[in-house]
Amino acid sequence: MNVSVFGIGYVGLVQGAALAEAGHNVLCVDVDAGKVQALKDGTLPLYEPGLKSLVRENYQSGRLQFDTDLEAAVHHAQLQLIAVGTPPDEDGSADLQYVLSVADTIARHMRRYQIIVDKSTVPVGTADRVRAHVSQVLADTGRKDLTFDVVSNPEFLKEGCAVDDCMRPDRIIIGTDSPEAEAVMRELYEPFNRNREKIVVMDARSAELTKYAANCMLATKISFMNEMANLAEKLGADIEMVRHGIGSDPRIGYQFIYPGLGYGGSCFPKDVQALIRIANGVDYDARVLKAVEARNNEQKTTLFSKIFDHFNGALRGKTFALWGLSFKPNTDDMREAPSRVLMEALWKAGASVQAFDPKAMEEAQRIYGSRDDLLLTGTKEAALKNADALIIATEWQSFRAPDFDLLGERLAQPVIFDGRNLYDPQRLKHRGFTYYSVGRQTL
Ligand code: NAD
Repeated sequence: MNVSVFGIGYVGLVQGAALAEAGHNVLCVDVDAGKVQALKDGTLPLYEPGLKSLVRENYQSGRLQFDTDLEAAVHHAQLQLIAVGTPPDEDGSADLQYVLSVADTIARHMRRYQIIVDKSTVPVGTADRVRAHVSQVLADTGRKDLTFDVVSNPEFLKEGCAVDDCMRPDRIIIGTDSPEAEAVMRELYEPFNRNREKIVVMDARSAELTKYAANCMLATKISFMNEMANLAEKLGADIEMVRHGIGSDPRIGYQFIYPGLGYGGSCFPKDVQALIRIANGVDYDARVLKAVEARNNEQKTTLFSKIFDHFNGALRGKTFALWGLSFKPNTDDMREAPSRVLMEALWKAGASVQAFDPKAMEEAQRIYGSRDDLLLTGTKEAALKNADALIIATEWQSFRAPDFDLLGERLAQPVIFDGRNLYDPQRLKHRGFTYYSVGRQTL
């Protein structure tokens, strides 16, 4: 089946490659000519485990193509997948300009029945807006007789295991009331729907809300657990014990109940904000979501407060080793990463940072450029040299079992501020470290 994908980001590129791997003929287009050229030259714009070989093999086989020619994409396929960004507007609501711009392009160039599929995360009612816009353009250009359907097909991939999520999705949500569109969508996803029925068909509004509900539920779990962690610290309890204690209840489960520095990334922060705005728009005060967001924003500052207190506020001239820049492991994405809030607070207080991340070094360089108070080091050990303390902001696997003797030697002071609870407090105490973590007592 021919498929066109608009937007070559995390969603467009990974989903495009997965569809090509399944045998579809996929044309991915983007307005970013540099990105398209780099892909043609074999350079990926982002890091995802397993993506490089998947893209290379399918590109070489001809089933996956990259281009900047948006009109060609309209003619390439009946199925038009929209996977462009929906960043927060100034007031936190989702900015739909890119989605509507693609809808406009499709409307202006379509010559036959088309299925316009929204994979971007969009406010409830966007399928209706896209439908109205396309109808208007067709009417204005004298092509009223052309027919089309708009389908909401939200994407649930997780950065860090996006390839696996696309190849083996938990569920495939198809929001449409058109039997014709549903049949084509079922055919598209047939290769991914083999071991059990994963397709759930519903109306477009419910599909749009399903995506927000999923992300907001997960964000709520994280904020709830961070609240419990803060309470545990004040009450003399150990949040890791509490986590085991509640996670063993199958109604709660172990996933997404890790205390930490707050959620980041390109989705949870913006989707929680967007749903608050969507609720506002229908005169509903989304109090739970507001609390989730407020807790998260505060959580990003908690480790800095511990650092500040430990050094009695005297941070000017201090140097901190920072392990982890990406908002979570296995990605180079630093959008809304807690590490950024932390670094910016340290810089503001006059401290400097020596940082290492297994994948996000280029991204950090791109965001912060060269500045005197940031040294990006080639290894995690190099970041430690003469630092006044080590800070851990991301739970990369390679940070879990460091050489503590070397750590003690390299650091000017044996102090660790761990925002991800990677180590055992007792063991670190025996090794002579002052060890701060989240939701546990500092021994
Ligand atoms: P991204 O920012 O990584 O990529 C978006 C791409 O769209 C960019 O390359 C941009 O140049 C391109 N673009 C913008 N306007 C265009 C146009 N008119 N025509 C063609 N290309 C255009 O975004 P992303 O992270 O892939 O997210 C895309 C959507 O999917 C968002 O709505 C996001 O909320 C949602 N989503 C993201 C994830 C995730 O983990 N990143 C997961 C599920 C859903």
